[in-house]
Amino acid sequence: MPGKPTLVWFRNDLRLADNPALHAASLQDSPVLPVFIWDGGRPNLPGSASRWWLYHSLKHLAESLAAKGSSLVVQSGETLEALCRLAEQTGASRLYFNRGYEPEDRLLESRIKERLAGRLEVKSFKGNLLFEPWALANKQGKPYQVFTPFWKQCLTLLRQETPLPAPDGLAAPPAWPECLPLEVLGLAPKLKWAEGFHTMWTPGEAGAAAKLAQFVQSALWSYAHNRDIPNLPGTSELSPHLHYGEISIRQVVAAVQQALAEQPHRSREDADIYLKELGWREFAYHLLHYFPHTVNAPLKEAYRAFPWRHDPEGLKAWQRGQTGYPIVDAGMRQLWRLGWMHNRVRMIAGSFLVKDLLLPWQDGAAWFWDTLVDADVANNALGWQWVAGSGADASPFFRIFNPVLQGEKFDPQGGYIRRWVPELAELPDKWIHQPWKASSAVLQQAGIILGRNYPFPIVDHDEARQSALNAYAKIRS
Ligand SMILES: Cc1cc2nc3c(=O)[nH]c(=O)nc-3n(C[C@H](O)[C@H](O)[C@H](O)COP(=O)(O)OP(=O)(O)OC[C@H]3O[C@@H](n4cnc5c(N)ncnc54)[C@H](O)[C@@H]3O)c2cc1C
Repeated sequence: MPGKPTLVWFRNDLRLADNPALHAASLQDSPVLPVFIWDGGRPNLPGSASRWWLYHSLKHLAESLAAKGSSLVVQSGETLEALCRLAEQTGASRLYFNRGYEPEDRLLESRIKERLAGRLEVKSFKGNLLFEPWALANKQGKPYQVFTPFWKQCLTLLRQETPLPAPDGLAAPPAWPECLPLEVLGLAPKLKWAEGFHTMWTPGEAGAAAKLAQFVQSALWSYAHNRDIPNLPGTSELSPHLHYGEISIRQVVAAVQQALAEQPHRSREDADIYLKELGWREFAYHLLHYFPHTVNAPLKEAYRAFPWRHDPEGLKAWQRGQTGYPIVDAGMRQLWRLGWMHNRVRMIAGSFLVKDLLLPWQDGAAWFWDTLVDADVANNALGWQWVAGSGADASPFFRIFNPVLQGEKFDPQGGYIRRWVPELAELPDKWIHQPWKASSAVLQQAGIILGRNYPFPIVDHDEARQSALNAYAKIRS
């Protein structure tokens, strides 16, 4: 006679392996009921690209669960109400889930515990971070605001851990509650815009495992240098998989540690720098937990008075990759086509918006939120506040990227630009980062008519730089 079922509530942990909540449920001598709830009323709902991802990821999870003799119960509505209803309908005796770290998650989880704890066993697990935000503090017992000491402490605590296996099978309940078809949630975009995403991405646990295996075999060992070259596949491309928890951070760290142990002749430096980048994700969640307002507001108070410009046309040109600065435009078009942009170019394009156009970083964060498949509350806020100089351990505002020099340094032959801004493909390397400086003969030969098939720069960088410094002087005084 099977016992009462255990509800396993899935959110950003859409995997079977190394999933502590699912693992614990599978060890009970009772049926397991995996549940996903789409709560359209919660704050920070995924943007369009992220919803595309979620749709495919849920499909994949449902298939993986079916292969284990189980099923994914999809429902929509207010989360707490849906969980209470499910507990009632199924006679569940347990509710297990992995903890979330967005401010709303903490509130919701405590409401769930308050409401349901008397009726069933409610248990939460650590599954999505190496170190939970409250587990770390600086020497004064305060939250960290500087990355290096934060990561130093993480390294002293980092252990070699073996990730949990996926359950062999999952006992099904005698009857399944109502389950919505995924299509009803309206996650997949109506436009054809996301078609290109499939060229780079395979959402789901298997796609994540394949990316990790490929990375550990090759790009990891030249990560220190190649991670900054946007025209190379020099990074792990795991960000959307990590965001949706299709792979756990523990699995990623374990794979790197194992690769190092098996191939001691390989470069420890590359692996260490990669682990450190994972550390920025941990840092982002640490900051989000202690400074939840920084999703929309600057961490440094002075920046609240920053004299931003209002320029809808400039914002549109930036969003569409029509600024006239090739490296910025290439990044913005890569984002539109793939739902992802290389980190180096995120910094350059972000800096251009904030410092050359003097537009609020929140406008950039909102566009990224809607168009990135890896859009993540903590990482996006950290990234934009870093660019704007208003966050913890941020790039100082007065350090203003020159988009031409950045392009020349990180894409010297212009391969990245030729790929994403094909109208410039025929320009010689010398002019690829500043077509407006090429002679009319060179432009003509490359088939470019500035102002017609590629824009003139929408601002002069040197002037824009001075305006940015003047604006910054206002908040400093
Ligand atoms: C303006 C701006 C906005 C950003 N918005 C997001 C976002 O919404 N979601 C997101 O996941 N990342 C964001 N980042 C961080 C970074 O650009 C991406 O994590 C990275 O490009 C993802 O590619 P990857 O997986 O190949 O990275 P890799 O270089 O392979 O790094 C491995 C993992 O480490 C983490 N990571 C790496 N760099 C950072 C970083 N600077 N901050 C936080 N985590 C990091 C990510 O989880 C990443 O998948 C943003 C950066 C900037 C400058």
